Amino acid sequence: MDHPQPRSSFVSPRFAQPATFMRLPHREDLAGVDVAIVGVPYDGGTSYRVGSRHGPRAIRDQSSLIRTYSYFQDVAPFGRLTVVDAGDIDVPPVGIEQAYAVIEAGIGRVLAAGAAPMAVGGDHSISLPILRAVAKRHGPVGLVQFDSHIDTWPEYFGGKYFHGSSFYWAVEEGLVDPTRFVQVGIRGPGYGPDDFDFHREKGITVILIDQVKAEGVDRTIDAVRRVLSGPTYVSFDIDAVDPAYAPGTGTPEVGGLTSHEAQRLLRGLAGLPIVGCDLVEVSPAFDGPGQITALLAANLLFELLCVMAKRI
Ligand code: MN
Ligand code: MN
Repeated sequence: MDHPQPRSSFVSPRFAQPATFMRLPHREDLAGVDVAIVGVPYDGGTSYRVGSRHGPRAIRDQSSLIRTYSYFQDVAPFGRLTVVDAGDIDVPPVGIEQAYAVIEAGIGRVLAAGAAPMAVGGDHSISLPILRAVAKRHGPVGLVQFDSHIDTWPEYFGGKYFHGSSFYWAVEEGLVDPTRFVQVGIRGPGYGPDDFDFHREKGITVILIDQVKAEGVDRTIDAVRRVLSGPTYVSFDIDAVDPAYAPGTGTPEVGGLTSHEAQRLLRGLAGLPIVGCDLVEVSPAFDGPGQITALLAANLLFELLCVMAKRI
């Protein structure tokens, strides 16, 4: 039982010390690590209001409050897994192709050490270079994407890469198996009915927010799990959650998940072979009083850690 533990709140008050994720040790040597939390503070792929480059620090700050045992998943993840905060990837803030090369290399180092990356964005454009690194190690992965947006548009203002094209290119590059790819929480006005042509052509499953609300969380989990098999990646765009609960984001869409629905949907992934995950699009400058979006993001990452621990 020599897994590193978060700093004890009975020895050091929760608001003390530099903020690593849940006050875990900061470690760059990842030998023997199961899950490495990695900040990816890049928002150069943002199409509307920017600022998610400040997400990792805000989420680490809010994570100080989280205690180490989940009643709902009946697991203490740090008793089962070696988890460390590996710090941030020093992503260049300008030039998306340069940023992508640095992100892919940084995540590649995590995977080469045998650890699963838990990436904290940053905008959703970071998922593409992460998936490039993940697929290099695991082959084409299954993917569950929680989001209000499809992010399968092929280009923007003549450029291939932005936060709305990550999953178009992930499928086109063979990083994600589209028949094992499911999107949850999709909503908002689109550009037209052909927004979903790509999904029909490739066999991608879409669960619109109306379906989640009509059928409930448990049946949604069943529908998600029917799609997923084999090595699986989880990508959580915080704008899947309603802006009433998560206002601190760049492209908010009304009519979304509650915080509780988001927690329960993630708990429903327990047992799946998750090889990496990300949580993206938290933009602290737009957050509400109490930093509620960053607090939610930190708690959703904790749920994902529990899910990954239940696989062990
Ligand atoms: Mn997104
Ligand atoms: Mn989104």
